[in-house]
Amino acid sequence: MNNLFFEIDNSILDSAAKTELALAQEFSAINEITEYNQQKVLSAFIRNKVSESDFSVSTGYAYGDRGREKLDKIYAEVFGGEDALVRHSFTCGTHTLAVALCGVLRPGDVMMSVTGLPYDTIHGVIGIGGKCAGQGSLSDLGIKYVQVDLGKDGRPDLEEISKQVSALKPKMVYIQRSRGYSLRPSLSVDEIGEIVKTVKNIHNSIIMVDNCYGEFVEKTEPLDAGADLMAGSLIKNAGGGIARSGGYIAGRKDLVELCSYRMTTPGLGREVGATFGENRNMFMGIFNAPHVTGEALKTAAFAGAFFKGRGYEVTPAPGEKRHDIIQSIRLGSPEKLIAFCEGIQSGAPVDSFVTPEPWDMPGYDSKVIMAAGAFIMGASIELSADAPLREPYAVWMQGGLNYHSGKTAVMLAARSLLKKGLL
Ligand SMILES: *Cc1c(COP(=O)(O)O)cnc(C)c1O
Repeated sequence: MNNLFFEIDNSILDSAAKTELALAQEFSAINEITEYNQQKVLSAFIRNKVSESDFSVSTGYAYGDRGREKLDKIYAEVFGGEDALVRHSFTCGTHTLAVALCGVLRPGDVMMSVTGLPYDTIHGVIGIGGKCAGQGSLSDLGIKYVQVDLGKDGRPDLEEISKQVSALKPKMVYIQRSRGYSLRPSLSVDEIGEIVKTVKNIHNSIIMVDNCYGEFVEKTEPLDAGADLMAGSLIKNAGGGIARSGGYIAGRKDLVELCSYRMTTPGLGREVGATFGENRNMFMGIFNAPHVTGEALKTAAFAGAFFKGRGYEVTPAPGEKRHDIIQSIRLGSPEKLIAFCEGIQSGAPVDSFVTPEPWDMPGYDSKVIMAAGAFIMGASIELSADAPLREPYAVWMQGGLNYHSGKTAVMLAARSLLKKGLL
């Protein structure tokens, strides 16, 4: 192991080498999925005859922006949907999910989350507990929210889902694939398929999936398993570390069309929306997405196995199947969280010299410390670690544009703990 550029203790280098050897099988499984998904994306580019002219700049109304339309088609094909909307103007994942929710739900409808409490920033969109009252949350619009919690094992409670769907016949059943800031396992596409079957046997609810962090982790996506609609962020997996902002919605044609009227206005829908030259980045982004997701998965697997080897509880555990790119490590104390995040930050290509500090982040209930040194602000497909300063003092890390730099940053996090006598 080369130690010319970073002074990393031999004890850390030795464990890192052993960790990597033990991961050979897991890495080869990740490579296999990456190659499959890379071919899926490449073939969609070829079928759709992507060409230099698709990268041209549109301004104003931008009727008939061909690159924009082609990108929608590629996303639809790759994600197994009839249609898709991909725009740099979706400001983040929350915005994209909100457009999808508001696009299809109407006053009086019931939205039923069947994977427990959704991701923190979605609470305000729904209006859970009066959050964002008066701002036009779903609750303000007369849309009723119902929640079926996960079972004790952290898995969907199919029995309770059946009961609630029979009783309430919800317009929408909402599934979150990734773990968010919880220690529950992520959902596999197969498990999502089981929920779809359970629900559709009883009632034809719209099945909507928050697919953030899940894209390209498996060979199939939620739409392949029968979901009707899914959405995600382009500064996570789907943007491949290249898209500078944005989101996507994919799924059933009639539903995607409804979303388009919320995205712009009734009547105009998807026909307008200048792309200002962002198309090239978005095409390159989806082209790179399977590979970058694979690199992030390897970085996560390395971090999980390394810290497991040091006696920490990690989720997923080494060898466990992954359905998102997140690795959580239960560090157990605020001092360790802070040292870990400082170490990750010190190994970032951008802003390596700053010290992350816990702060009150909009949309989150406790102080959060974040390590992020990214080319795109807040992009969590780039290596990042965040941790709410609350029990169980676990850090959630994700991303890594390439495994080699990701692994280095994880070793620097270990060094930061070691220096303070905390490893
Ligand atoms: C990141 C994330 C969101 C929200 O996306 P932002 O881009 O942070 O607004 C929603 N759900 C899940 C599961 C996420 O990981």
